[in-house]
Amino acid sequence: MRILVTGGAGFIGSNFVRYILDNYPEDDILVFDILTYAGDLANLPSLTSTHRLSFIQANICDEQAVAQAMAGCDAVVHFAAETHVDRSLLSAQDFIATNVQGTYVLLEAARKQHMQRFLYISTDEVYGNACSPDGMSRPSVETDSLRPLSPYAASKAGADTLAFSYWASYGLPVTITRSSNNYGPYQYPEKQLPLFILNALEGRPLPIYGDGQHSRDWIHVYDHVAALSVLLHQADSSLDGQIFNIGADQERTTLENAALILKSLEKSAEQISFVQDRPGHVRRHAVDTTKIYQQLGWQARISFDEGIKQTIEWYQTHTDWLAGIKEKHNEFLQSALQRGT
Ligand code: NAD
Repeated sequence: MRILVTGGAGFIGSNFVRYILDNYPEDDILVFDILTYAGDLANLPSLTSTHRLSFIQANICDEQAVAQAMAGCDAVVHFAAETHVDRSLLSAQDFIATNVQGTYVLLEAARKQHMQRFLYISTDEVYGNACSPDGMSRPSVETDSLRPLSPYAASKAGADTLAFSYWASYGLPVTITRSSNNYGPYQYPEKQLPLFILNALEGRPLPIYGDGQHSRDWIHVYDHVAALSVLLHQADSSLDGQIFNIGADQERTTLENAALILKSLEKSAEQISFVQDRPGHVRRHAVDTTKIYQQLGWQARISFDEGIKQTIEWYQTHTDWLAGIKEKHNEFLQSALQRGT
């Protein structure tokens, strides 16, 4: 199968590309990525290392570039997005353009070119606070209503429902996944866990929004991309129009994460610094993964304790990768490292 992977030079996309190259020798990949601050070819295997990987630098809002790239592909796995909640609070424009309009452009091209599978990578942020219809806190199920609380989440919810409508209206074989928070190698250090790891290592405060009791279900990126690969390679039409939560049932608060990272690195808990909470900050994200387990037998395998240990080691040993990011984005990264999470 030839797979068009949008956003394949970002964190999850690049881990997905590696996973496919390592585990599905019959598949070829075309990465389509504009390379924003969050995308980097250094996240991918060298383009000269295998004929199975190729790359186009372009915007998913560019209809012509998208149509050309999709020609000859069998499936689309759509990761490309503006992804940082804090940035969406400062300005939502790029989020609407890329996440909503860009997804529309891809769906239209996929419809015209009769793609065999369109995997839309959504997020549990679309649910807002995890709760039942009567307001009781519990993990979100796929049939819960969408109550996004940030412009980022709203833009993802818009694209998520648009993708669903392309299955309902045109029969495009769309499958939607809503994953919980990911962590692991190649994550840009503005996100919580790499930010805490780097600040801990480099002696800066670990800035925590509010009381630090906001909780998320943390999934290692390897588990997430393994689930996506199972969905992608399901040959029948039973996945068309289906939505699947992907999570690891490992809920942890921000404060617990900061404390664990400091302890693992033998640093003082005094590096923890509470900062003013952000608007619309979701108190609890958690997903119920019964559906993907019952339908496909998939479940996460990597425990948080093991995954975070490996991730800390990864950031300690991949100094060239970090140096490359710092060289390109130093000023911007410094301000990201001081914001709360
Ligand atoms: P990321 O920010 O690391 O990477 C996004 C990639 O998209 C980058 O390579 C960037 O260059 C590319 N991109 C952005 N705008 C583009 C455009 N207009 N045209 C082409 N490429 C563009 O993001 P990530 O954390 O890897 O997330 C990937 C996807 O997974 C996103 O859709 C996100 O909403 C979703 N998701 C992420 C998480 C998480 O915890 N990181 C959880 C659930 C879902």
